[in-house]
Amino acid sequence: MAKDVTCEVNSCKFWGPQNRCNASSIHVAGHQNQPRQNREVDCKTFQPKI
Ligand code: SF4
Repeated sequence: MAKDVTCEVNSCKFWGPQNRCNASSIHVAGHQNQPRQNREVDCKTFQPKI
């Protein structure tokens, strides 16, 4: 599990209670070089819940 990662993307299959990310590792990339707002950050580990 990625340590101490909290995330509000509850549509992701790695998302758990208390906003915990249960993925073993995550890859987060910004859409821009210097993201300034949450919506400009994109977790590449995201997978939709089935
Ligand atoms: S994999 Fe990314 S989007 Fe999914 S819960 Fe973890 S941090 Fe959030």
